[in-house]
Amino acid sequence: MKRVVLFDCDSTLSTIEGIDVLAEQAGVVDQVVPLTNAAMDGRLRLEEAYAARLDLIRPDASTLAGIGQLYIDTRVAGAVEAIAALQRLGWQVHVVSGGIRQAVLVIARFLGVPDDHVHAVDLRFDAHGHYAGFDTASPLARSGGKAVIARLLGAGAERLVMVGDGITDLEAAEASAHVIGFGGVVRRDIVARRAAEYVDTPDLREVARRLVGPDESPRVADLLGPA
Ligand SMILES: [Mg+2]
Repeated sequence: MKRVVLFDCDSTLSTIEGIDVLAEQAGVVDQVVPLTNAAMDGRLRLEEAYAARLDLIRPDASTLAGIGQLYIDTRVAGAVEAIAALQRLGWQVHVVSGGIRQAVLVIARFLGVPDDHVHAVDLRFDAHGHYAGFDTASPLARSGGKAVIARLLGAGAERLVMVGDGITDLEAAEASAHVIGFGGVVRRDIVARRAAEYVDTPDLREVARRLVGPDESPRVADLLGPA
């Protein structure tokens, strides 16, 4: 029985938003925030906002390694235990993020998620490690992208679950994923209303507990500790 769970990264596995931290470090927050808001309000297409923000930030390769480490340092409580328990119970665990793949890979490796289970947007660098663009073909740099990836990864799965804090995570429902909204870092009312289920405990072990059946729960209790 194929069971697949997809975790968002920013504000789900980690308490930070990587793009915001990059903008702060680059001193361009005042220009980046209006682009994010315009995309959220539908005044600017997500793909255009994505390109414009990265053009302002222009992160280099070493900066991304730093963000990856910051993702680890700010990981959400229970992330390691929840992912290890789900994998032991036979779930395929993937990270699906609109963030930057080079940074997301760092926390994914820390959490025991293999590189080929990490789906995010690759940046390109020149020979000096300077920013040279992003993978414009990635569905994750466009609106609707999480549904595309969820459909691919969920093919033939008996259970397909998406766990995330944001509106884009709700898109996975279009691919018949069961969406668990995660409000343990940021509570978004629209996600709480629209997700099939909502967890606002700031600990991902609670998400893992929700995913297992009654016959498995003694094993999970052992793996996760008491609720
Ligand atoms: Mg998120």
